[in-house]
Amino acid sequence: MLPSSLITTFNIYWLNLKTMDGTLAKQLWRVLENPSSLVARIYKARYFPHHSFWDAPESIAPSYSWRSIIASKELVLKGMRWQVGAGSSIHTWSDPWIPRAPSFIPYRRGLNVELDSRVKDFITPFNWDIQYLNRVFTPEDVEAILSISLSDRPAVDRCIWHYDPKVQFWKEVWHANIPASAKVCIWKACQAILPTKDRLLHRHVNIADLSCTLCSDALETTTHLCFECPFTKALIEEADPLIHQVCLSPNVQFPSFKGWLQGCFASLSKPSFHKLLFLVWAVWKERNNRTWREKSSTVGDVCFQANAWLHDFQFHQVKKGTAQVSRIATWKPPSAGWLKVNFDGAFSKQTHMGGVVVIIRDSEGSCMGGMFQHIENVYSPEQIEAVAGRIAVRMVQSKNLAPISFETDSLNLACFVNQSSGSITSTYGRL
Ligand SMILES: [Zn+2]
Repeated sequence: MLPSSLITTFNIYWLNLKTMDGTLAKQLWRVLENPSSLVARIYKARYFPHHSFWDAPESIAPSYSWRSIIASKELVLKGMRWQVGAGSSIHTWSDPWIPRAPSFIPYRRGLNVELDSRVKDFITPFNWDIQYLNRVFTPEDVEAILSISLSDRPAVDRCIWHYDPKVQFWKEVWHANIPASAKVCIWKACQAILPTKDRLLHRHVNIADLSCTLCSDALETTTHLCFECPFTKALIEEADPLIHQVCLSPNVQFPSFKGWLQGCFASLSKPSFHKLLFLVWAVWKERNNRTWREKSSTVGDVCFQANAWLHDFQFHQVKKGTAQVSRIATWKPPSAGWLKVNFDGAFSKQTHMGGVVVIIRDSEGSCMGGMFQHIENVYSPEQIEAVAGRIAVRMVQSKNLAPISFETDSLNLACFVNQSSGSITSTYGRL
């Protein structure tokens, strides 16, 4: 049988795996999951008697089902790997088992490796043999292997999806570049414990009017507030038409907020997903303002405030993750009549995605303009700082702003810019 965790995974993968035939996938999993099963042994005897499944040679007259399994192998390869139990079923050099995308197969360090070795050879009971690992694998692979925790009891090897969408989803929510209170709100909404009116009723709180605080047109539930309410839909459309198009298609029904949000997560880029989380939070805040403070804003106002808020938050947070320089958050306004441009950049070492923030303020400290831009393919803090500087200068030039001063917290970049008289290259590249 297919383990239930995999069935769930398949369900969540519906957005990507529409074309994959479930029955064939099951057969494939049987082969992989249980090499001693009858099906697996029949396939092995016929198609890959001397190889692992992954290296199965092309067959002259494959059966229909074997052809289909091979056809879906590519797809499975995109995310499937072994999870190490005892390590006895896993071929060290040909099976995917290292938690390092995309291949999950270790690099061979030289020619004199033992080709037939199994992962169990590197395990002293329940622990990795670090000395042996260091002799055989590259340092990058050793690091990846040591990140695999071994069971302290005898355990079987099994096949898992490396990209577990559930894990990825929560990681993305917790690491989203939004305030912590917004994350808590999203988490509560996912657990269906936001104190909406229907929930308060459920807890026997006496409420006269159960209709939605924002539109008065429906019962106030989490799903209604977060993605069905006309107010929320209008806000998302105004803030970002693309997110609206992707996430609020009238053809798809979602029974829960979490289900809807996971669907959005699978379809949106990372920055758009973060923005969506932020907008949902903005809806909840507006709902609370109306409930507790008798203060109500229009869709346009909430949209404007949310955008300004998000930019400001990301400006102060964007350094996180790369921060080797401690930030002293005392901003000093420029002299009267001057403008000051602050710029900053940050990136993720894992995804190589980054962002640049530029904010222009006057001597009163009022924000005169600004921007946030996503940058791809960033490999070093210097690189993103340099890009941020260039974008800031271009922005000032294009708007003919003067007199103006620039401020960055990258000490290295500031020294480099101030010292260099001509055009030179350095770790910053050509500026
Ligand atoms: Zn409503």
